[in-house]
Amino acid sequence: MDAIWEFTDKEIKANRRVFEERTGLYRKKGLDLLKAREIILKRSGKLKGKILEIGTGRGVTALALARAGHRITSVDNDRGMLKVAALNLCHEKLLSKASFRVMDAYSLEFKDRSFDNVFVVEALHHLYDAERFFGEVDRVLSDRGKLILADFNTKGKAIIGHVHLSEGRKHKISPLGKREAKSWLIGHGYEIKIYDEDCHWVIIAEKTLKERRKLGKGIYEHIYGPVPSWRLGASLGIDPISSDRKMCNFDCVYCQLGRTKGRVSKRKTFIAPEKILEELKCLPPVTIDYITFSGTGEPTMAANLGEMIREVKKIRREPVAVLTNSSYLCDRSVRKALLPADLVAVKLDAPSEELFQKINRPARGLTLKKVIKGIKAFRREYKGKLALQMMFLEYNFFEASEMASLARDIGADEVELNTPLRPCAVKSLTRKEMEDVKRHFRGSNAISVYEKEKNKVRPISDKETMRRRGKKI
Ligand code: SF4
Repeated sequence: MDAIWEFTDKEIKANRRVFEERTGLYRKKGLDLLKAREIILKRSGKLKGKILEIGTGRGVTALALARAGHRITSVDNDRGMLKVAALNLCHEKLLSKASFRVMDAYSLEFKDRSFDNVFVVEALHHLYDAERFFGEVDRVLSDRGKLILADFNTKGKAIIGHVHLSEGRKHKISPLGKREAKSWLIGHGYEIKIYDEDCHWVIIAEKTLKERRKLGKGIYEHIYGPVPSWRLGASLGIDPISSDRKMCNFDCVYCQLGRTKGRVSKRKTFIAPEKILEELKCLPPVTIDYITFSGTGEPTMAANLGEMIREVKKIRREPVAVLTNSSYLCDRSVRKALLPADLVAVKLDAPSEELFQKINRPARGLTLKKVIKGIKAFRREYKGKLALQMMFLEYNFFEASEMASLARDIGADEVELNTPLRPCAVKSLTRKEMEDVKRHFRGSNAISVYEKEKNKVRPISDKETMRRRGKKI
């Protein structure tokens, strides 16, 4: 919500006096804050569309923009500073040009692509997490939007430090500066121009989709989608295995990736988490409801899955899901690795050992009893959303009642009743048959594949998506 201000003349005049004293003091030391804004505005070129300022401070930039005739939204996490800024604009009868809001720069309360221009002036040196901050800026900036980033250079920092010291204070400066900003922006497909001014550096960065596409071409090897998932919405896949052939200890009759050639049971590290993070950092702006670990086999076979989940959660805001065949849940270390995920969907397709062997065709030694024991142990330990995914086919259609009683026994938060609608080796059940199945699941919060609409989503790489999704996205 916008901050609403009502000021007395006395307050406005007193604030102006302090503002003039302060800018005058800096000017005497060689740092002209007002002139610097004029230069920054000149470097920004023509500003079309909506303007956001992150880091209002005393409102020097807001004032310059308002004087130039622009309307702006300006955010700062310090309400006191916003009041000072509002008083400064009020003095020049420009308060109606600005809307001030208390907000955290790492968590902007705006929709994706809400602004065409984002100003960040003398604010970067107060921030420490470049990834989160630039990620937020990038999210709220429109396609082809402009980022105007400026901060003190060595001379500017020295003057600020000196003034603060003379007032008995220490000016805290983070390690983030021109170099870090430049590397993030270029790495994310921005076209940038850099200007070195007297006490500031200025970067004018334009978000160009063309550059992003070039950057993205051929670089996505471990992430794919987003795909339209009936359970998860727009699901961006992460493949922690990323192998040329399917790596799984099951050989499900309905697997869309075809037959498993040599079921593997040993868990190992397939790829380093950094590879995934690098690709995630190059993502163009896409709508993602879930980031889902799945792909060319059973994701819990990746011995470093837990580390990957934790690292992804550090740089992305979306909830993380893992789709597993449940076979490794009897292993305490696998259960522990899954704990940070927001949603874990565990597979259970059979109520008897005979059907388990027929439908899932597991690796030798793997029994249904062991799988169910693992799921129940995980249910007890896991605090996130547990979904039980059950695939229905001709094989287990008449076992729906037993499957439902197993589901009740496990007590998952949601039961996902599926039948293979995507191309595979077996026939799917009809809508009517699935309705019959669902009747057995009353009271279990069950959802069926036929009931859910899939939204249209556009994958970032068709090739990598098809590799994990079979013949159809
Ligand atoms: S568990 Fe998944 S990847 Fe493995 S065979 Fe079954 S459907 Fe395919």
